Amino acid sequence: MRKIIGIDLDEVLSETVEHALKANDYKICGIPIRKEQINDYYIFRMKEFEGMQQEAVDFFGDFLLSEKAKEIKPVDGAYEKLKELKSAGYTLNVVTARRDFLKDRTYEWLDKNLPSLISDVYFTNSFGDNQIKKSEVIKKIGADYMFEDNFEYAFDVASVGVKTFLLEKPWNANQTENTGLIKRIASWNEFSLEML
Ligand SMILES: [Mg+2]
Repeated sequence: MRKIIGIDLDEVLSETVEHALKANDYKICGIPIRKEQINDYYIFRMKEFEGMQQEAVDFFGDFLLSEKAKEIKPVDGAYEKLKELKSAGYTLNVVTARRDFLKDRTYEWLDKNLPSLISDVYFTNSFGDNQIKKSEVIKKIGADYMFEDNFEYAFDVASVGVKTFLLEKPWNANQTENTGLIKRIASWNEFSLEML
């Protein structure tokens, strides 16, 4: 039987944060910030954004709808390794926390940057009205593995018994709790070594 992998989009496939910062002169809501300083996936929880939480939430949504978002590049190695995984017989599905209003943009970006590699895309609407858990999607599609950079999502998916790979990022460096099913890895190269 073909094995199914659920793959997160932002920061696992799409180098979103770096491009969003670059396009905004390394400022979020006017506050200077560099990627290495982002110590919380939920940027609005960082002390720098106290009192401007909604603006910080909207920052990435607004950026993703802008023309500049079309220039976002894939994460290093993602395209090559997805091709190898697909050739090896894996079914590759994107499971993203993005909200429904970003669907068209997301499909355009995937068609342009990772053509013919992704079978399906599932949106879990983080911060939206129809929010669902990534673990629900993963169970529904019968995924065997998940590849993610957000520790909370990784923990959620691992807690339903699915082996989850957590891409090491500044915002998950301090989250070391484990269910026994989360494995930290540094790159797409390491991920493919685990899978192939
Ligand atoms: Mg992500």
